[in-house]
Amino acid sequence: MKKTIYLDNAATTKVSKAALDAMLPFLHERYGNPSSVYSVGRDAKEAMETARNKVAQAIGARPEEIFFTGCGTESNNWALKSVAAMRKEKGQHIITSTIEHPAVLNTLKYLETQGYEVTYLGVDKFGQISLDALTKAIRKDTILISIMAANNEIGTIFPTAEIGKIASDNGILFHTDAVQAAGSIPLDVRKLNVDLLTISGHKIGALKGVGVLFIKKGLKLPPLIHGGGQEHGMRSGTENVAGIAGLAAALEYRVSRLPQDNLTKKRDRLIEGVLKIKKSAFTGDPVNRLPGIASFVFEAIEGESMLLMLDAFGICASSGSACSSGSLDPSHVLLGIGLPHEIAHGSLRLSLCEDTTDEDIDYVIEKLTDVVDKLRKMSPVWQE
Ligand SMILES: *Cc1c(COP(=O)(O)O)cnc(C)c1O
Repeated sequence: MKKTIYLDNAATTKVSKAALDAMLPFLHERYGNPSSVYSVGRDAKEAMETARNKVAQAIGARPEEIFFTGCGTESNNWALKSVAAMRKEKGQHIITSTIEHPAVLNTLKYLETQGYEVTYLGVDKFGQISLDALTKAIRKDTILISIMAANNEIGTIFPTAEIGKIASDNGILFHTDAVQAAGSIPLDVRKLNVDLLTISGHKIGALKGVGVLFIKKGLKLPPLIHGGGQEHGMRSGTENVAGIAGLAAALEYRVSRLPQDNLTKKRDRLIEGVLKIKKSAFTGDPVNRLPGIASFVFEAIEGESMLLMLDAFGICASSGSACSSGSLDPSHVLLGIGLPHEIAHGSLRLSLCEDTTDEDIDYVIEKLTDVVDKLRKMSPVWQE
């Protein structure tokens, strides 16, 4: 079989051993419904509460502040739509950044159709917002700030604690999409001053289709999903017991491995090697960046072609252009950091994991160098 080097861990991860071990008993033996009164059900309920404790502990929260959801997208929808509904009388203005994940941006676009006003804060070339601009954007009717903890395309880590302080000083609720940050950098909801925080299972070594929303105690958020009253009436639907147990185990494992110094070293080795390619540049914040994400742009290269050629060498990577929507528009994140369209088209994100070896990195640098060279030789716009 052809060797596969998976460097797209920011898109999804394989289920970790920790998560798999935690999940297996709940699939075939301890499969009860947590709402049932008999012991198999109580057993499942207990597993859920153990998982809730673990997640709470991993982010410095209390167990009653942890709510399990169907995915990161759902958690973001719940946070934004419910705060908007709850605070409508107080105001209808929300602040975010231009480089959020579509799960935040498109939810806010929807809220705009419902009469809410959204300010999209621009970012600098590293993908950072200005705290000064944030403070200036605050109005009397601002009800919510939603700014991600770290960006999924360029790995930039935002100053979440400072943003949280500005929000709380002004009596504004603060939500952070921490899907990429969770398990990669330390997160403490109290130190960060966050009211709402989103986590997704499949980005941290657990299943697709399970997520978390942290809701600070005292915040009476209306539910997004109504039904049988699970999760204290806040998120109905029979709980994904195995998935939840897996998410908690995966997060606990990741947090126990922080800080990810080894991963950071490998990432930097990869960056150093790739930047030896002519007319290549690094994207994102050189210092405040996630340990596992290396991102680049190459002049006179079309991202899709690069991905296909890398795939032929067994290398899985991603490019900001095209992506899920199937459109050929370059990524809003790369345009957001000020790259011109033609440069943004030649983007590449390599996201590593614990299993990535030095040999993998050498192989990727070698093949990528060849691929870029080949594509440029065929390109009408490339000039040495
Ligand atoms: C993947 C991702 C999401 C969406 O999470 P799902 O569980 O796939 O719905 C949201 N935000 C960021 C930053 C992500 O990387």
